[in-house]
Amino acid sequence: MKNSGNDNLIPVFIPTALQRFVGQQETIQLPGATVKEVLEQLSGKYPELKKHLYNEQGQLRSFVNVFVNDEDIRHTQGLDTRVAAKDAITIVPSIAGGAESCGTTGTGLSNDEVKRYSRHLIMPEVGMEGQKKIKAASVLLIGTGGLGSPLGLYLASAGVGRIGLVDFDVVDFTNLQRQVLFTTEDVGQPKIAVAKKRLQAINPHITIQTHETRLSAENAMEILKGYDIVVDGTDNFPTRYLVNDACVLLNKPNVYGSIFRFEGQASVFDASKGPCYRCLYPEPPPPGLVPSCAEGGVLGILPGIIGTIQATEAIKLILGNGEPLIGRLLLFNAMKMRFRELKLRKSPTCPICGPNRTITKLIDYEQFCGIAPAAQTTAAADSGSLEITAEELKAALDDKKLVKIIDVREPHEYDICHLAGSTLIPLGQLPQRYKELNIADNLVLHCHKGVRSMRALEFLKTVGFTKVKSLKGGIEAWADKVEPDMPRY
Ligand SMILES: [Zn+2]
Repeated sequence: MKNSGNDNLIPVFIPTALQRFVGQQETIQLPGATVKEVLEQLSGKYPELKKHLYNEQGQLRSFVNVFVNDEDIRHTQGLDTRVAAKDAITIVPSIAGGAESCGTTGTGLSNDEVKRYSRHLIMPEVGMEGQKKIKAASVLLIGTGGLGSPLGLYLASAGVGRIGLVDFDVVDFTNLQRQVLFTTEDVGQPKIAVAKKRLQAINPHITIQTHETRLSAENAMEILKGYDIVVDGTDNFPTRYLVNDACVLLNKPNVYGSIFRFEGQASVFDASKGPCYRCLYPEPPPPGLVPSCAEGGVLGILPGIIGTIQATEAIKLILGNGEPLIGRLLLFNAMKMRFRELKLRKSPTCPICGPNRTITKLIDYEQFCGIAPAAQTTAAADSGSLEITAEELKAALDDKKLVKIIDVREPHEYDICHLAGSTLIPLGQLPQRYKELNIADNLVLHCHKGVRSMRALEFLKTVGFTKVKSLKGGIEAWADKVEPDMPRY
C-alpha cells in the first residue's frame, strides 16, 4: 500500500531496557512512511539510543529486532518495510550478541517465542522484560481439576517457563462439565499425564514438571520449594491448610481460589506482605459442615472464572506489576453477576504468621481438619457393622425383610434418581425430623456416595437408634452393582 507523502505518526514501542535513553518513555510517536524513516527520526531525536540501535557502519545492530505489528521486518522488506496509519513499530533487543549492553537479564527469547508472545511484547505492562520474567518463572499448580484447568491453559499459553502439576486422580465423566483440560476420550486416564500432553502441545517452549502424588505433610516442602509461586486449586480443607502452612514456612506467595455452587473466592496470601489463609480462617469448619463440590455441586463455568483470576494474579506477581490481591478477598457471585471485595488484615494471633506463632513445621492436616487417620482406620474396621453393601441390601429386600430406606440427600438429588420406596429426609433436616422414624425399624440410610449417610448414622446413634446401617458407597454403588439403568451423577 503506497502511502508516500503521508505524515502519519507511527507509535514506536521502546523496550524497558532502552527506555532510559528516551526519558523513560514507553511509546514515542514519530512520522515516517518506512521503518527506516521512523527509526531515523527516533535516533535523530535520541542520539544515545542511536548507539544502541546502529553499529559504526550505520547498520541496525544484529541483536536489535524490529517488528511492524507482529511481523519481524527481516521477513518483510527490512528497513524499507512501509508503515501507515494503525501500524506500530516495536523494538525488541534480543539476548544474542550483547544484550547486556541493553540492560537485559535472564534468558532470551527465540524468534519463535517473540512471535508467539508478540501481543504481550507490544504492551508496555509486559514488554520484553516482562516476558522474560514470565519465561524465567516457575509456578506450581496444586490440582489439575476445575481451577487447575484454566490455570494450566493460560499460564502455559502465556509462556510461564516451568509449570509444576500436582495431582493423583484419573479423569472422571463428571469432571468434563468444568475441567476443560480434558476430553471425553481422556476418561479413565491419569489427569497429570493428559494435562502435561495438552499443555505441552499448547506451548512447546515451556517445561511441564509432574508430581503424580497426593500432596502431604511429608512431601509438600520438598515439592513446593522448587517453585516461585504456588497456586492452590484444591477442593479440600486439609490440603488448603497444608498449602498455606508450607507457603508461609517457605516464604512463597499462595494464589488462592475456591468455588462452591455459583460462588467463588480469590485472594493472594503472602505472609511477608499481608495475611495468610489462617489469618482469615484460623480453623477449618467441622467435617461435613461445608459440603464439597462433589456433594454440593458447582456451576461448570465458575472454576473458569476463578481460575483465570488466579492465573492473572500469578502473572502479575511474576511481573511485579499492578495491584495484587494481597490483603483483599474477592468474592464472586455468578447468579447475581457481582464482585465484592473484603479487606483482609494480618491476624496478630495467627498461629503460623503471627508474632507468637505456634506452628513452626507442617502438622497432621487430616487430624487438624477432624478427619483423623486413626479414627478413619477404626471406622473402616468397624464399618462392617455400620455399613451394608448394595448387594446385601438387594438380598434383604428380595427376602422381603422389613427394611426402611432413608435417603438423606437433597430433594434435587432425589429428583435425579432414588431407590423405590425410600423416604427423603435431607441430612440437614434430620435433627428436627428424626422423630418421624420408628426406633424399632431396621433403617438403612443412604446418600450419594456414603459420606453423608455415615454422618446421619452417627447422629441417629446419639439419639438412641441402634438398628441403623449406612449404604456403603451410597446410591452410586447401588447403581453400579444392582440397578445399572439408574441415572448417575
Ligand atoms: Zn496468618
